[in-house]
Amino acid sequence: MKKIVVLGGGISGYGSAVLAKKKGFDVFLSDMGKVAEKYAAILDEWGIEWEQGQHTMERILAADEVIKSPGIPEKAAAVQALREQGTPIISEMEFAARYMGKARTICITGSNGKTTTTSLIYKIMRDAGMNVALGGNIGESFAYQVATGEFDWYVLELSSFQLDGMYDFRADVAVLMNITPDHLDRYGYCFQNYVDSKMRIMQNQHSLNYFVYSADDEVIEKEIASGKYPMRMRQLPFAAKAAVASGAGDGYFDGEEFTAMVGKKSVVINASKMQIAGLHNAYNAMAAALATLAAGVDEEQVVKSIYDFCPVEHRLEPAGEKDGVKWINDSKATNVDSVWYALESMTRPTVWIAGGTDKGNDYTPLKEFARNKVKCLVCMGLDNEKLIKEFTDVVPLVISCSSLEEAMQAARKVAEEGDVVLLSPACASFDLFKNYEQRGELFKKWVEDNVLK
Ligand code: ADP
Repeated sequence: MKKIVVLGGGISGYGSAVLAKKKGFDVFLSDMGKVAEKYAAILDEWGIEWEQGQHTMERILAADEVIKSPGIPEKAAAVQALREQGTPIISEMEFAARYMGKARTICITGSNGKTTTTSLIYKIMRDAGMNVALGGNIGESFAYQVATGEFDWYVLELSSFQLDGMYDFRADVAVLMNITPDHLDRYGYCFQNYVDSKMRIMQNQHSLNYFVYSADDEVIEKEIASGKYPMRMRQLPFAAKAAVASGAGDGYFDGEEFTAMVGKKSVVINASKMQIAGLHNAYNAMAAALATLAAGVDEEQVVKSIYDFCPVEHRLEPAGEKDGVKWINDSKATNVDSVWYALESMTRPTVWIAGGTDKGNDYTPLKEFARNKVKCLVCMGLDNEKLIKEFTDVVPLVISCSSLEEAMQAARKVAEEGDVVLLSPACASFDLFKNYEQRGELFKKWVEDNVLK
């Protein structure tokens, strides 16, 4: 019997193990850390052998194929040892797609905007009554859903780490939002490695497939123009800078409304009528409109669902307003580019809370918005030195804090009627918080308890 080893026992890992078991493989799951109780219970229920707190290399090296969870870096000792002996290492997506039968996929990637665009696409398709599942980096894993359900469509949010382990996988509709530096620590500090990984979203696509991408993104444009890729699929570029025509369709935003067109179908959306604000959300909605029109959704349904769609939690999410001060939770903004769009969409003087674990950020792109819109930068982290140095001469006031409580008090003190307090950190959350979700929850709770009450 073919031996499958699953490395990592999180959402992706237990889902892969369950699917492998269901398909009759000899499965072993190994996690160097701790497996959450609820996942351990599922593994036991399915009779899957597993271990935690160690990697028994003898069993791992005996695998015919390894499914690696996206959180495990290439440089992990177990991965290196497997590479050395030439064992194939794939991602959950590659594995699960082998068993999804006739179902089709819409796969979304990019440095920013993945979750918003994925959620919007899923909503449009569900509203349209399609038999659709949501998976990948968001919600339940793709593999678990393939093992336990039967769907016509899978809408999958893909990180570069998942794309790295995908070889034969082919998306029916691929969506690439943008490519800006992120996660360079996992790519040998080489931007091109990360770019190559993101471009895999359209690998293996043929003439009946669609590729939705940002034509405003210089990195993507350069990659396509390089001639490295066969580009046999139908291209659906979207843009706000200069309109780009393509035979199959395209999207264009003129600053007020956008048109998205696929074949003979087209929709017109007025951005000010959407409940998600800012240029970045016009891009996200345009991409979602193109992807769902390509998947066959009716024009009216696309329009209606886009107007109905509310911000996803922790993404420029309104957290309340009191005494003329508006509080916004953008905890998910863990890199410079997402903060750029957050500041771009600010229309009021801004008290900006930022900081955390710096992933090698270059803050230069933020300086112009900071100069024009930010009245005070509140740094919230264990090491604020870099932010302080970068913004001291850019914004009128910089305050250094080392806890959420301290930062919130400071922000409240400087915010006046007509201002916005924006949590948009540009950094990971691991110095003070468990993850970005917890950071956002605590921000909202503080506002709820101390401002709104
Ligand atoms: P991801 O899943 O790629 O991290 P999200 O939709 O969760 O993307 O958004 C993450 C952050 O990036 C949010 O804080 C949001 O303000 C910002 N953002 C959303 N869409 C875009 C976009 N198209 N371009 C740049 N930034 C964006």
